[in-house]
Amino acid sequence: MIENKQPSSPNSGSGKEPTKGHIKLTTHPSQRDAASRISWGAASANERGPIVGSVNDGAARNVIGAHSGAYSVYRALAVAAGTLDPVHIADLTDTSPAACIGPYPRWGDPGKIVSLDPYGHMVSEVFAEQLAAGLNITPTIAVTKARINLPEIKDAMRAGRLKADGELLSETGDVRVTKAAIEPVWYLPGIAERFAVSETDLRRTLFEHSGGMYTELITRNDLKVFLPPIGGLTVYCIGDVSAVREPGKEIACRVHDECNGSDVFGSDICTCRPYLAHGIEVCIETAQRGGIGFIVYNRKEGRALGEVTKFLVYNARKRQQGGDRAETYFERTECVAGVQDMRFQELMPDVLTWLGIERIDRFVSMSDMKYDAITGQGIEIGERITIPDGLIPDDASVEMDAKKAAGYFSNEPQPDATQLKIAKGRDLHD
Ligand SMILES: [Zn+2]
Repeated sequence: MIENKQPSSPNSGSGKEPTKGHIKLTTHPSQRDAASRISWGAASANERGPIVGSVNDGAARNVIGAHSGAYSVYRALAVAAGTLDPVHIADLTDTSPAACIGPYPRWGDPGKIVSLDPYGHMVSEVFAEQLAAGLNITPTIAVTKARINLPEIKDAMRAGRLKADGELLSETGDVRVTKAAIEPVWYLPGIAERFAVSETDLRRTLFEHSGGMYTELITRNDLKVFLPPIGGLTVYCIGDVSAVREPGKEIACRVHDECNGSDVFGSDICTCRPYLAHGIEVCIETAQRGGIGFIVYNRKEGRALGEVTKFLVYNARKRQQGGDRAETYFERTECVAGVQDMRFQELMPDVLTWLGIERIDRFVSMSDMKYDAITGQGIEIGERITIPDGLIPDDASVEMDAKKAAGYFSNEPQPDATQLKIAKGRDLHD
């Protein structure tokens, strides 16, 4: 049970300007310390400058929004409930990355990475001086090591497709991975450029469609970096994450967008988990022959439309006249959501650039949108690997046919018009 005490003022005892009693609706450029400028895309971390997002940092604060993406709302709740000290500064002892990632030459290109802070994991190292001076700099990336274990990988071992090597893959099916969690850090001019819109229009739309949540989007044109309240991503690497630029290293990659129903609960209406597991299998195989495998897991549930929209679409698909069929697969989504997809793969390649990847030899995806986004950012793609037919659940054949007909990459012929009219999906109550 939470003790019902009054939250202390964010500035009580901190010596910074008091806000108790009145609410500041926005800040002013003159309140910012000139030294806190961020030079996005500068050649080194120190020339770029730290990202300071704490709301208590006064003149040093140099971004719009708050750290931790959507979890910033929980942090606000914790402060409101009196369980979190609003001036708490993280103790970063022993939190440094468990593997070395970068810096890489493309980190210094302001157009190549616009949606994450490439130095986000190196904060304690590259901004040690500023941290020692009392600046509250929060890492936006954390890199650790783990072992993962999936029944599909054990199936692949039983079927003889994978063999334990005692190093990357154990007899019991444990896979050694390096994993990195990444929070979004948006450089607004760069985001605007990726979508070919003006920065002014982008700021205005973000402001209006978040219910006016961030006034500084409108009032602080001098602040170019925004910490958006959205989900981030996780990278799982099999093999040596630091060796990515060694000549001749074969690289496998699957970029996977979250689908909780399938990924975690094994729902059979789509191919998400089977494709994810297949991607992991290809990554292990590649790492075992001396290469590196990367799984990029983006928190973009239901094509970034969210799970409520997704379940509404499932109902609409199953209840429509003529049954659940490929012909109307995208149309039903559009009826509910207004669009077919909001994942915007335009920003997705940033993480690959951050990892130092300039070429993917084995790309485990059928998506043309992902392929075009990656190659559009100057990363080469060799072989494209489709999901083996045997891994597609029956109810997911509607999705698979619709995607093939829409031009997704496949080694098989596109389904014809008659095929697309056949109701292949299960009935809603079946
Ligand atoms: Zn799915």
